[in-house]
Amino acid sequence: MCEHEDSGEKVYLAPVRDSTNTVEQRRYCVRCGLVREDGAKDLAFFVNRLHDLDETLQLAGRHMGVCHLTQVEKRLILRSMQAEPVFADVYGTTFAMQYNMFKRIVSRYRDIPECVYFDALN
Ligand SMILES: [Zn+2]
Repeated sequence: MCEHEDSGEKVYLAPVRDSTNTVEQRRYCVRCGLVREDGAKDLAFFVNRLHDLDETLQLAGRHMGVCHLTQVEKRLILRSMQAEPVFADVYGTTFAMQYNMFKRIVSRYRDIPECVYFDALN
């Protein structure tokens, strides 16, 4: 994997793996050329958001008809997140892609209302 060296200056680029975003001024890695989005977060950010999400489910989940996550489920979710390239590398990804992947992984275990994701992730 590339040891990314940031360009420092921004140039007009489209993000690599996301076609919905427009061409804007972005930084990139001068070694591999992958684009860096300002909003992209590292895995630790999403591990914390998973914790927030679970806390919300523990407090209010019963009112929404959703159980909180078990230890095993949280471990499986973490393992899935660790295996996803969008969380492994802030270059070449966008927050929107990460957000959608986070929801896709968690939704394998719980059908959680969109507003709960929104509160946890914004
Ligand atoms: Zn690189």
